[in-house]
Order: sequence, then C-alpha cells, then structure tokens
Amino acid sequence: MNQTISSTSDKAASILEGEDIILKVRDLHTYFYTDIGVARALNGVNFDIPRGKVMGMVGESGCGKSVTALSIMRMVTKPGRIVQGDIALFRKKKGGENDKSQIIEEINLTKLEGMGPVMRSIRGAEMSMIFQEPMTSLNPSYTIGDQIMEAILLHQGVDKVEAEKRAINILDGVGMANPALVVKRYPHELSGGMRQRAMISLALSCTPSILFADEPTTALDVTTEAQILDLMRDLQGRINMTIIFITHNLGVVAQMCDYVTVMYLGRVVEQATVDDTFYNPKHPYTSSLLRSIPHVGSRQKERLMPIRGVVPDPYSAIKGCPFHPRCSQVMRGKCDAQVPGLTVVGKSHTVRCFLYSDTVEEASNVR
Ligand code: SF4
Repeated sequence: MNQTISSTSDKAASILEGEDIILKVRDLHTYFYTDIGVARALNGVNFDIPRGKVMGMVGESGCGKSVTALSIMRMVTKPGRIVQGDIALFRKKKGGENDKSQIIEEINLTKLEGMGPVMRSIRGAEMSMIFQEPMTSLNPSYTIGDQIMEAILLHQGVDKVEAEKRAINILDGVGMANPALVVKRYPHELSGGMRQRAMISLALSCTPSILFADEPTTALDVTTEAQILDLMRDLQGRINMTIIFITHNLGVVAQMCDYVTVMYLGRVVEQATVDDTFYNPKHPYTSSLLRSIPHVGSRQKERLMPIRGVVPDPYSAIKGCPFHPRCSQVMRGKCDAQVPGLTVVGKSHTVRCFLYSDTVEEASNVR
C-alpha cells in the first residue's frame, strides 16, 4: 500500500551521524495555486529529524517553516497541495503479543490521504502541533476539558470519566494552577500563559512521538515564555519526545535545540548542530541572521546588521541561488545562473552554497 522512501531514490542520505532518524523529508515541494499565480512555498526541502532531539527551524517570515510543518502533518489544504516529494515517518511498534522487542515501521506520509483514517490516527497520536496563537487555535465554544478529552476519547479508547481524569492530569503536568477548575473553563476565561499551557496540554494529550511547536511563545511575556520553554524541555526529556521548534528567536534556539535547520525561500540552506550553527556558520544567510541579533555579555559595542533586502515573494521564480540578490559574497555569472547543491562541510553539517563546492542541484521536474 505504502511505497517507502527506502525503496525509492534517496536524494540525500542522512548526515546526522549516529542519530536514530524519526522523520526523513526528501525533495518536498508544496505549492499554492491562487488566482494571482502559483506560490512555490516549498521548493525541494530535504532534511532529517533525529528521534528524541530538539530541532530548531529558523529563517525569516515567508521562508517556508510553517508550511513544512503543515506539509508533514498533512494539513495543507486547498488551494495548496504537496506536488512532489516524500515524507517518511519511522515509528516504533511492539514486535507482537508477548514480544517486548520493538520494530521500526516506515510510513510514507505523502502516499496517505491527508484527511483519511490512517493519517488522522497518526495526527494526534504520533504527531501533534502547538500553534503560535492559542486563541485562534482553541475552539472558543468548547471548554478546555472538552477539547483535550476529544483527542483522548478518539485515540485512547477510554470512557468520559477516565478521559476527564487524564485531561486534569495533563493540565497538572504542564504546571496549570487549579486544573480541575480549568477543565470547565472556556478559552476566553484564561490568561495568555494559561491558554498556551492549555494548547500544550492539548498537543500532549496522547503523548505524541513528534511535536511541532510553531512560535509557541511569541505571544507571551518573557517570564511566561521562560516557564513554557522550561516545561517543554522537561517534558521532552521525560518522555523522549522529538520536538521541531519553529522560531525567529535565535536566543530560544540556543537555549532549546540540539540541531538547527536554516530555511530560505522554501529550501533548507544549512543544517548543523546548535554549536556549529552559532560558532561555525557556513551559509551567508545563517551568518547574516546571527549578525542581526544582539549578543548579551559582549564587551565591545557592536552595531546590529540587518539583512539587506527582503525575502522575495514566492510567486516569482529566481534564477540561480535564491539568496543571491541579497548575498554580500555573490559570485556573478555563477550564483545567479545555477542553484547550489548540498555539500557536507563537517560532521552533521551541510550547506547549499558555491563558496564550499561547485555541486549544482539537480533540476526539478515540477511545473
Ligand atoms: Fe551567496 Fe553564492 Fe552562496 Fe548563494 S551560492 S549564498 S549567492 S555565495
């Protein structure tokens, strides 16, 4: 039923050395067919996500971070669709009855119906998402308890009394004060921090293996943000969850993540450990992002350097390296003519830039 990535061409072997890979994304293209043209949100995304680690996904607005998460969750709806590529989920299953061993099952998510029964069972039970603004993600006409219990009743086969007990336990686990009272409350009756904790509880209700956190603390004050980040790190350690942390905030990345994926205009331009990303960045875009944030504790006065220009709109097709109109190291005649391919520049470190090799990306056959 389900053709696997292992059985098709693997355009980029994993470079995350020694890691147990839980998600493998290859050549992913997601387009939006609108009245004013085709918005190419993802243009051949390749990366791996290691099991039980936190992967930061960074880049300016419009680089494709959230669409990547929605594509993996199979939640892209019309006028958008995945037009090419593979997403492999490697999920652990029990070997069988009375068998304590575990086997790894590979499922190609792009071959499943987005709203079909298999994908719906994976969403919620295996993968879950915390959205940026809980007020727009929580349903205002249902209590917090009803919304958390809905996922528990759907995936865990328990009755309502048990589901409510579990909902209260989850709220308690995320540090919510008076969880037995909060289950009876509607979203508008909670503060911003409480709503974000409720949103996290909803996402964690079935202890997913993979959690996408899309700017989960942007709308919060710094104290609540610190509490929520501590909470997520704690939960990740306790249940060995894999977290994909989507953010603009490089300070949060340094604090939270093991690896970093840098995206620009619908492509991954660099992937590395968090230390290499901050202390040994290779791609000019990554270096520009780092120069544009203040460094606490720096002895010298430093001028912040904004990245010149803006992210081009996804309707326009840029010839050559997508970053070349903004790049200070552009090589005329090369960077504006060809798209750089993937180059391994170190242990668990890849980059797409002609400064490191002449590798050219294979032409895509997507129209
Ligand atoms: Fe800059 Fe050229 Fe590298 Fe693109 S390929 S980031 S334009 S140096």
